[in-house]
Amino acid sequence: MSEPFPEPIPAMPYIVIDDGGDHYLAGSRCDQCGATMLGKRLGCAACGDGALTDVRLNDTGRVRTCTVITRSYPGVPVPFIAAVIAIDGGGVVRGTLHGPIPDDPVAEIGKPVRISIEDTGQRDPNGRAFYAQNFRPMETAA
Ligand SMILES: [Zn+2]
Repeated sequence: MSEPFPEPIPAMPYIVIDDGGDHYLAGSRCDQCGATMLGKRLGCAACGDGALTDVRLNDTGRVRTCTVITRSYPGVPVPFIAAVIAIDGGGVVRGTLHGPIPDDPVAEIGKPVRISIEDTGQRDPNGRAFYAQNFRPMETAA
């Protein structure tokens, strides 16, 4: 069986694109204290002691902090929101928060987001797509 598209490339080492096409953030959980961190770690950042187990991180979180970027490299559309997300269940990750550009970015802090791994639109010389994490606001009211 042949693939209709070239295999995508994770833009960061903590992004997993498995054989089934599922995309997620990988992390490490400390067997001693339970701290959960983004990516594969050699030691626990919280207790410095425990052995670590590879885990799949959650696809939801909350905005820990963010800012509106109005200048960037040539070819990078602005404005956009650069955000740091506290992942539900543990781990912290940076990326782009999609949605309306807020007048006051501080008002975004604490809001829930959905984390997804998506095609960045950038390609390597062989046409393989780079995939990176993005965040989108979750509706909190019904
Ligand atoms: Zn620990």
